[in-house]
Amino acid sequence: MKETLSGNEAIARGAYEAGVKVASAYPGTPSTEILENIVRYPEINASWAPNEKVALEVGIGASFGGGRAIVAMKHVGVNVAADPLFTLSYTGVKGGLLLITADDPELHSSQNEQDNRHYARFAKVPMLEPSDSQECLDFTKLAFEISERYDTPVMLRTTTRISHGKSVVETSAPVTDLPQPHLMRDPAKYVMLPGNARKRHFVVEQRMSDLAKDAATLPVNRIEMRDASMGIITSGVSYHYVREVLPEASVLKLGLVHPLPLDLIREFAGKVETLYVVEELDPFIEEQVKALGIAVKGKELLSLCGELTPGRLRQGFGLPAAQQMAAEDLPGRPPNMCPGCPHRGVFYTLNRMKAYVSGDIGCYTLGFMPPLSAMDTCVCMGASIGMASGVVKVIPEEERSKVVAVIGDSTFLHTGVNGLMDMVYNKAASTVIILDNRITAMTGRQENPASGHTLMDDPTFSVDLHMLCKAVGVQHVRTMNPLDLAECEKVITEEMARPEVSVIITNKPCVLIKREGVFKKGPCYVVDPLSCTGCRACLKIGCPAIQWLPGEGKKGIAHIDALLCTGCDVCRQLCKFSAIGEANER
Ligand code: SF4
Ligand code: SF4
Repeated sequence: MKETLSGNEAIARGAYEAGVKVASAYPGTPSTEILENIVRYPEINASWAPNEKVALEVGIGASFGGGRAIVAMKHVGVNVAADPLFTLSYTGVKGGLLLITADDPELHSSQNEQDNRHYARFAKVPMLEPSDSQECLDFTKLAFEISERYDTPVMLRTTTRISHGKSVVETSAPVTDLPQPHLMRDPAKYVMLPGNARKRHFVVEQRMSDLAKDAATLPVNRIEMRDASMGIITSGVSYHYVREVLPEASVLKLGLVHPLPLDLIREFAGKVETLYVVEELDPFIEEQVKALGIAVKGKELLSLCGELTPGRLRQGFGLPAAQQMAAEDLPGRPPNMCPGCPHRGVFYTLNRMKAYVSGDIGCYTLGFMPPLSAMDTCVCMGASIGMASGVVKVIPEEERSKVVAVIGDSTFLHTGVNGLMDMVYNKAASTVIILDNRITAMTGRQENPASGHTLMDDPTFSVDLHMLCKAVGVQHVRTMNPLDLAECEKVITEEMARPEVSVIITNKPCVLIKREGVFKKGPCYVVDPLSCTGCRACLKIGCPAIQWLPGEGKKGIAHIDALLCTGCDVCRQLCKFSAIGEANER
């Protein structure tokens, strides 16, 4: 049957057709929709893990039990999962195990644009790279065959365009003849004490050498001969850009990007006059081709930074720019928190207090944006608390009370709690604000261990963040209403003045939360145009529902868009002229 699927949907379908038993992930753009589509197949036990390391460990357990497992994450998530990944390369698998890394060239929604092809080489595991949704499905299935045939985890790398782009896919029925999982003991293979691991290292090297030889005959690597004057080695979405911009060029299209099919590369290089590599980000293929002693051009034409596009490819090859379609005249929309977002009051207060805010990854990273402008650092998931500990160790005594770490509920459970343990254990006095909005909001409102529901929407135990903080040794844990500015100022001031570790947990949910009854919209707020003096104080919270109506010859007045306002009441608290109040009815 033919369907139009995104790359993420096709991977989910491929997992189903491959007879996968277990799927685990931590949400992260552009990988999130893989698990969100896998839940359509009840044959697969799918779950959100608290972080990517745990997700991979769940997959490893399922594989060692003999079931096929798929684990998905964005590129930076592989950094978190790297510890088990490198040793998994040594143990190998029982049931096939596929790790998806969804990379984000151009940083559409990420803190860096690392090229995760290096992980495959570094961890010594094979990596497949599809070019469209059909290949996402086919390569997912192939990955399980390679995994079981060569006793190895397999990585599949997508990029944002492949994950989210849609193309026609031919689907088929799932396999039915896989062995039933059951407990199997093989400690020499699965217990990586040095004595066992030393032997397994030889197995790993032999496996990669076998795969490199076999790669020349794998159908996912193919030579497309056209004009022999120009030969291009490429993979992933770059293949389509090459076909669009340089349709006459001969192409070696790689589906397996690690290990590279070196014999096939030599054969292709011998057939063409000038050889190029067209690849996004790092010269991963180019450097290995050069190491074969083959002359090749690549990164002297194309940037190391950002996404490749047909336009950039044209520019690199000195071709005239294609005619651009006229851009629609849309208003600029800088990223912003939602109207009524419970984080806004906290950041407004921190800005007023001139706090040094050690930030983290989540919607609340937008606290960095004006007019809130209240975030000073943001490095990676869970780093805010550890970084706050670090900074208070070096700054003068009188500056220490200015340091605050902010972190969301999901990020706190991801890796932030470890930073809090360290903060308490090593007596680095600082204040931590857990912005608990009851959901993993940034990636699209996924459940997490504190939200009370699983990915399959079953009610479940919910981590008590207050008790958890107490359990790691925090003596001062307070709950705060982030929509009450006076309370925010009082509680944050008191806790920042405390020369000990303290935690403040906010208690208002995300305004977009899906579950019934968790978020309750308040009455709509309105501005009385006669009372508004045009002082602009209400604009300082940056609520998208508050608009500015310029006045003729005077300052202008504020106006609240009734469609956007959620009735959070924060703007009313800022207006000294009592010009803002509840509308009589919504
Ligand atoms: S804070 Fe009040 S007076 Fe000032 S602009 Fe806003 S609505 Fe008008
Ligand atoms: S009450 Fe004010 S701050 Fe809250 S959503 Fe409405 S306009 Fe925005």
